[in-house]
Amino acid sequence: MMRVTVLMYHMIDTPVTPEERRFCRSPENFRNDMQIIHEAGYRVISMKTLLEAIKNKDQHLSKAVVITFDDGLACNYENALPVLEEFGYTASVFVVTSYIGGYNDFSRNYGFSRRRMLTVNQIKALKKAGVDIGSHTVHHLALGKTATQVTIDEILKSKCMLEDILACEVPHFAYPFGSWNPAVREIVMNANYTGACSTMPWPNRLDTDPFLLRRSEIKGQDNSAQFRLKLRFATNTMPPVAEARQLARGFLEKMKVIPPKRFY
Ligand SMILES: [Zn+2]
Repeated sequence: MMRVTVLMYHMIDTPVTPEERRFCRSPENFRNDMQIIHEAGYRVISMKTLLEAIKNKDQHLSKAVVITFDDGLACNYENALPVLEEFGYTASVFVVTSYIGGYNDFSRNYGFSRRRMLTVNQIKALKKAGVDIGSHTVHHLALGKTATQVTIDEILKSKCMLEDILACEVPHFAYPFGSWNPAVREIVMNANYTGACSTMPWPNRLDTDPFLLRRSEIKGQDNSAQFRLKLRFATNTMPPVAEARQLARGFLEKMKVIPPKRFY
């Protein structure tokens, strides 16, 4: 049965402000995540492979994971790429095109520090290293709340700009803030993308909408146990009690103890 977890990262770096903590995974933790993926026997696949499996109703894709990064920060090239290359893993980076070669001004209002965005050369180098480059709009707008003409521009112009840089098709998209509505989804579909990532959790299955792929957000503060749970169950957040129960259940199963019924 097909069941694919798509992981969502933002920055692979050290947080500078408290607001960044959630979005900033340290390079050490990121490397540890990749090690867990490797040791747990998951296959890292591309967005393209996932989308083709959904299209072809290919049941065989299980224990597979897609790695994605939103926004297109320079740390994706500087800190994440060397680790991806060490493990031989592919990934997708969704770039906000008007900030290429500049700074993350679109997220400064949310308490983020000033950070460098990917340059044109870094985007090209990522692509050359086997990383898929997707669009994350021109200005990082919440498209679910944006006027139709502006939404069309954001979706189309970002695609064109990246295709100019890379001289190849840019078929994948990610909704900024996970913000979408049926009209926005329709525009993405009609703009010749083949698939788009949402921020809704849970695994991707054969009946998953390719224009609303599901993702599990890996936060800066997640520990190894939480990462393992997200990899396996593709959750976003787990209430502490549910999480503790899940861990305890796994432990009891390992010890071959049958827990009392009320435990479930
Ligand atoms: Zn974003």
